[in-house]
Amino acid sequence: MQAQAQAEQVLKEKFGYDHFRAGQDTAIDRVLAGENTLVVMPTGGGKSLCYQIPALMLPGLTVVVSPLIALMKDQVDALNDNGIAATFINSSIDFREMDERLRQAAMGEVKLLYVAPERFESDQFVTELNDINVSLLAIDEAHCISQWGHDFRPSYLSLSTVPQRLTSKPAVIALTATATPRVAADIRQRLGIPDDGMVNTGFERTNLSFQVIRDQDEDRYLSQYLKLNQDQSGIIYASTRKEVDRLYTMLAKKKLPVARYHAGMSDADRAASQEDFLFERKPIMIATNAFGMGIDKSNVRFVIHAQLPKDLESYYQEAGRAGRDGLPSEAILLYKPKDVMLQRFFIDNSEADEAHRRLQYQKLQTMIQYANTGECLQQFILNYFGQTGTKPCGRCSNCLDEREAVDVTTDAQKVLSCVVRMHSRYGKALIAQVLTGSHNQRIQEWHLDELSTYGLMQNQSQRDVTTFIDFLTASGFLQTNGGQFPTLGLTETGAEVLRGNQSVYRKTAMKARQSLAVDD
Ligand code: ADP
Ligand code: ZN
Repeated sequence: MQAQAQAEQVLKEKFGYDHFRAGQDTAIDRVLAGENTLVVMPTGGGKSLCYQIPALMLPGLTVVVSPLIALMKDQVDALNDNGIAATFINSSIDFREMDERLRQAAMGEVKLLYVAPERFESDQFVTELNDINVSLLAIDEAHCISQWGHDFRPSYLSLSTVPQRLTSKPAVIALTATATPRVAADIRQRLGIPDDGMVNTGFERTNLSFQVIRDQDEDRYLSQYLKLNQDQSGIIYASTRKEVDRLYTMLAKKKLPVARYHAGMSDADRAASQEDFLFERKPIMIATNAFGMGIDKSNVRFVIHAQLPKDLESYYQEAGRAGRDGLPSEAILLYKPKDVMLQRFFIDNSEADEAHRRLQYQKLQTMIQYANTGECLQQFILNYFGQTGTKPCGRCSNCLDEREAVDVTTDAQKVLSCVVRMHSRYGKALIAQVLTGSHNQRIQEWHLDELSTYGLMQNQSQRDVTTFIDFLTASGFLQTNGGQFPTLGLTETGAEVLRGNQSVYRKTAMKARQSLAVDD
């Protein structure tokens, strides 16, 4: 029988599905032909089957590398329940048991062996594996191998030499849901995957509607939202443990069915919380980003970020935990400019070296742009991940924003010329201060009050001007340079606006406010 027909039979008999999803068949074909492959699929796209089905068809063992040590047992139990022989080895297993499991693998009694990446840091484990015929090496969460990714793990670096160190020369399949073109190239290079060895189904989540809610009182928004969606399951992410505790107490007081999860809780409390959530005793989880990796709850209807996350990769991954069952779901970001400060604080106080910090600042800038863009939010994300040429989604808060776009070219020119006058050496706060005519000491010391653009927008608040600058940056008229104190410069399109060759339109709340005033 042809490999493809055989794979389809395994899909049906072992997993009970009739058809492959996009990309699965191509990936499986490649792996069965012994070709190294990188699979890029959105969360819930069905990455696991891309190695689980070959594992059942190949003669030898499939070694699955996964960073989710805490979840290995659950993953393996789930496979065993399906009648698939799998086991795992990690630090929770004693030596005798480990030997026994390796023996089972050598005898072909198990087809899948899950291990943590740290295992490969010692030669001993590789030596032991070399007594076994390993047919396939599957590397989950493969973006962890790249320093350009958002979740780099040094232990992943040791994986790059594993295929050569294994005498059976297994095929490699790497899988991820988040990879910019740069990260994808890095993964391919490190794992010896050819440039055309990528199965990329795109990142679009057609059942998610992305929303950015700006400047709303977070407590009020959350209580109202949860009251309206009482019977739904959802996750609320907050930036700090303290904020998780605060939101939890506030919402529990309102008799909302909330659970909480963060790294400051005891193991037992966290496990209990997670169960309450999974079994819908408390269908709403309030958590830090410590929660969620590997949580397989398919009917999460909303993911709300109460604060700005650190980068778009994390955001997309966390938001992507909504709607894994394919049903319509919401991904909501509550944006307040002051949350940027907290993320800056995290970067400033991280152990990272200078170069890495710069990268994190850049990523934070992209996140801020996401919060301020007037374009389709799904498209903004896809563009960031290198998927261009898509259409506006028609579902996000920007696509559905029916406010009229107002011509703001004159205001844009004021900002842009001020940036030019300030020689692209300053950040947005100072630019906004100059434009609004602030009497700030620094302005006077540096003689910025002598600029012709000083006070040009003095009828507007500093905050509104700052938001407008964020909008111009998000729309590609300005670009940020540098790290901790990013300076602003013009882009090519920004220069066109200044020359009067291009107009700028923005949807603003002004119309709504005016009509409200009339109605009063
Ligand atoms: P990912 O790892 O890409 O996030 P999973 O491998 O966990 O996704 O799969 C997500 C869900 O989709 C699982 O419940 C899985 O059983 C289901 N699934 C995967 N492939 C298929 C298929 N071909 N047909 C139907 N359901 C599938
Ligand atoms: Zn859209």
